Amino acid sequence: MNYQRTVKRTVTIEGIGVHSGKTAKIKINPQDAQSGIIFMRADNGRQKISLSPAHVVSTMNNSAIGFNGSRIMTVEHLLSSLYGLGIDNALVEVWGEEIPILDGSAKVFVEEILKAGIEKLDKPKKFILVKKPVRVEETNKYAAIDPSPDFRVDFVISYDHPLLKYQRREFKFDGEDFEKEISPARTFGFINEVEVLRNNGLAKGGSLDNVVVISDEGVVNPEGMRFRDEPVRHKILDSLGDLMILGTYIIGQYRGFKAGHKLNHQLLMALMSNPDNYQIIEAGHPRLAKENGFKIPRWLTPPENGHK
Ligand SMILES: [Zn+2]
Repeated sequence: MNYQRTVKRTVTIEGIGVHSGKTAKIKINPQDAQSGIIFMRADNGRQKISLSPAHVVSTMNNSAIGFNGSRIMTVEHLLSSLYGLGIDNALVEVWGEEIPILDGSAKVFVEEILKAGIEKLDKPKKFILVKKPVRVEETNKYAAIDPSPDFRVDFVISYDHPLLKYQRREFKFDGEDFEKEISPARTFGFINEVEVLRNNGLAKGGSLDNVVVISDEGVVNPEGMRFRDEPVRHKILDSLGDLMILGTYIIGQYRGFKAGHKLNHQLLMALMSNPDNYQIIEAGHPRLAKENGFKIPRWLTPPENGHK
């Protein structure tokens, strides 16, 4: 049976926000089963913000969530880390307006959570089983989710740049290693975008320490890429974080073609807009799984003693 998970101990992380340029501190605290992932502006009235597509307040170069006047920017890399580690329940206290960018990937979140350990809880995990294909699109871009017996993410990027003409990667949650293959992939951007972002009040904390910057000549960062296809891996990382805003793990196949936070958000809204599109199920019902033709991903089977 697949059980819900939380962190074993509180994890504390500090750093600057890539967009705000301001320092923030977060604490990821253990929570009971059935609590979900809850964010809280600890510095501002202790307003709680639960995960829901309805709580997304901005998708401009980051995913921001908010409720009742409080908001938190750039939640996607932290949410992706929680998704990748199978964590269902946590209270994320935030002192500041934005989740720290750290090295631009999910590496530090994953390492710190694994150091604290993962706790198995006594309630079965919940899933959203995709029953019907859903697709949203913009000119030459789309995001889609289809019924599938397991959870996989397939992403394509294509830019007018020799390094990024076409990159495609599929990540299967049943058998591939999120920690090694996806979590170290960093945010990337083109050098000529920097000014536009800054004019929009974004990327104030962006630097070569947290963004892979690409110019006409190639990668500006002296260390180069961590993977040959690091950018598409980062898009998989981002999409997982955006999907986690549902608050429930998905069984289905996500496909992104040049999609970003905005299309991912529209996809979640479209998926949830019709109850015929999905079914909420609990792990631990093998008969239900058999009847519906899916299997609970192996990656979600919790280890007996913390990590691995
Ligand atoms: Zn990102």
